[in-house]
Amino acid sequence: MGKLDIRNLRKEFLDEDRSIVAVEDLNIDIDDGEFLIFVGPSGCGKSTTLRCIAGLESPTGGNILLNETDITNKPPTERDIAMVFQNYALYPHLTARKNIGFGLKMSTDMGADEIERRVDDVAEMMGIEEILEKKPGELSGGQQQRVALGRAIVREPEVFLMDEPLSNLDAKLRTTMRTELQNLQQDLNITTIYVTHDQTEAMTMGDRIAILNDGKLQQLGTPLECYYEPANRFVAGFIGSPSMNFFEVDYVDGALVHDTFRYDLSPKAREQLVGYEGRMTLGIRPESIETVPADEPGAISTTVSVTEPMGELTYAYVDIGDQTCTVTLSGERMVESGTTLTIDFPEDKIHLFDPDTGETVKTRSVSTATDTNVDARA
Ligand code: ATP
Repeated sequence: MGKLDIRNLRKEFLDEDRSIVAVEDLNIDIDDGEFLIFVGPSGCGKSTTLRCIAGLESPTGGNILLNETDITNKPPTERDIAMVFQNYALYPHLTARKNIGFGLKMSTDMGADEIERRVDDVAEMMGIEEILEKKPGELSGGQQQRVALGRAIVREPEVFLMDEPLSNLDAKLRTTMRTELQNLQQDLNITTIYVTHDQTEAMTMGDRIAILNDGKLQQLGTPLECYYEPANRFVAGFIGSPSMNFFEVDYVDGALVHDTFRYDLSPKAREQLVGYEGRMTLGIRPESIETVPADEPGAISTTVSVTEPMGELTYAYVDIGDQTCTVTLSGERMVESGTTLTIDFPEDKIHLFDPDTGETVKTRSVSTATDTNVDARA
């Protein structure tokens, strides 16, 4: 069992005379066996939250409960929580075997034979039997990461906390380790919180994502909910790569009016906007934009400024008035800088946000989104 409840968590640091609120009124319930991702920009409070859960930082307010027991003030060693760090934090003078068994030796009364047996089991699980007698300095980054993970797993904790554990690895190894970690987490079924600022890790690895900004929770949901139904403009812009395009518009007479285009809404969409008028932010993902014939009603004429061929896809950066908009095109379509591209925003794929609060006014929904092609490329 590893059910973790974070209740009204607050952490404030005093830096000289300045107060920094790193985490503010954070509430998250994490189910037993769940894989939860914390994602957000640098400085948003991800590591501080994790360190509070591990007991490495004392919260200024709020509570942390593990299986309904309040552990807020318990020392780290009494929490049954294992943490894996970005820099692996291995002891350089100890072999991989000793590094993995170290925690068991120090914090349990387990005999040497039992420790050896458990280290061997974990080494087999991680595929690192061959390197057990080597020291960290003799190991590659990927091997060191496996040893660090092995050291966490061998303790059979209730909860794993992982702070950007793959960020020191090269891109290819990172992809392999990502899948390995997911399989491992599923096999062990240990509640895991994984901190990252990597888009792909956030979208692919976890059951749910908690998106943080400025110490505050912006949205807690499945990756697809956060992608299709962002709670606000911040989440809409943060989740998804390349990022969503935004346009400041005026909602007047059933149309979204931008400096350089007018977007007429259907009666159905207008119904959703009853009670709204005036300024709004229109959002559309690059992969939702369609290219259309120039004479299509409502088509927006743009000029391609730069293209980024990615292989299967090409990202075209097009000018709309004095704004740049990203459009995802099929990689087979050759488009050169200076070309005119006429585009359309399918109405069922547009998002609207309150320009002042950033809150979502209109969004897509996961249920309708699953019926359509996410890569609606032209
Ligand atoms: P990153 O992705 O860069 O690691 P993060 O989201 O993990 O960032 P935190 O490390 O949790 O962010 O930091 C949150 C805020 O708290 C930042 O403004 C940071 O400068 C501040 N902070 C963190 N630790 C301390 C500390 N010990 N003393 C003062 N301020 C701190």
